[in-house]
Amino acid sequence: MSELRFNELRGEEVAYAIHRQDRTFLPDRAHCPLDPSRPGAPPTEIPLEEFEIVVFDNRFPAFEAPTGAAEVVVYTDDHDASLSGLPIERVEALMWVWRHRYEELGAREDVEYVYIFENRGVEVGVTLHHPHGQIYGYPFLPPVPALELAADERLGGCTPCLLLERERSDGRRLLFENDALSAYVPEAARWPYEVHLVMRPHRASLLECGPRELRLLAEGLLRLVRGYDALFARPLPYVMAVHQAPTGAATGSGHLHLEFYPPLRTAEKLKYLAGSEQGAGTFIGDVLPEEAATALREAFGRVS
Ligand SMILES: [Zn+2]
Ligand SMILES: [Zn+2]
Ligand SMILES: [Zn+2]
Repeated sequence: MSELRFNELRGEEVAYAIHRQDRTFLPDRAHCPLDPSRPGAPPTEIPLEEFEIVVFDNRFPAFEAPTGAAEVVVYTDDHDASLSGLPIERVEALMWVWRHRYEELGAREDVEYVYIFENRGVEVGVTLHHPHGQIYGYPFLPPVPALELAADERLGGCTPCLLLERERSDGRRLLFENDALSAYVPEAARWPYEVHLVMRPHRASLLECGPRELRLLAEGLLRLVRGYDALFARPLPYVMAVHQAPTGAATGSGHLHLEFYPPLRTAEKLKYLAGSEQGAGTFIGDVLPEEAATALREAFGRVS
């Protein structure tokens, strides 16, 4: 069982999930728990010989009913694939899976915030290489979405809508657009190659997106992750954070957008969260967002 404690000094919850110390750590290729179960071989987490997308409860959950949820979303049965290598149809299907999980988890009494995310690469602590993401159903509103709602209050409207308008009229950090979304490096990005993928029509969550918008979201997502891999000609590690409207008591609308935080500042050098970031909460950047946007646009141009 995990345990929640409230950190008074910071005004935030901390979750302890001590059983996670025992979780599978970078198993060798033959013992991947997210592979399909092959006849004659020991069963994996997934009792199917082949599959497209599978969602199941995390065996080592940070949150579990009746106080939240933790799920694993496996993108493919191909161990050696990655999100950027998937066909558009699969990524489109993934958008529908996300939408369904948001709806179902969001309807639960014990879930205040549905958070879909992916950690990619050992640099951000991945313990299984098989392409997958995760979903946490937090039994409280976590600090980052709470800050976004506070920004709406401060600015007197929807912050992503407002920032989108600013980025589009400025244009220097804009990366690409399609009929449903825009991708840009935020003016005050915290990570060197941080990118936000934002729905242009105001959509509080995936539930407000129609089929065409989900398709366009999948296209934009693929374009971004493929461009990311072209940036340093290597699979780029990142954290992908999907922000949507809270599903619990918290009021305020929220606006569907994806934030990507790659931890690299060059092909080989990591951006560490050190004294200023950890102890004072102020990020010190090495790359100006305008320069990052130029490099990313060039990388996108190299993707056929
Ligand atoms: Zn695998
Ligand atoms: Zn909005
Ligand atoms: Zn956000």
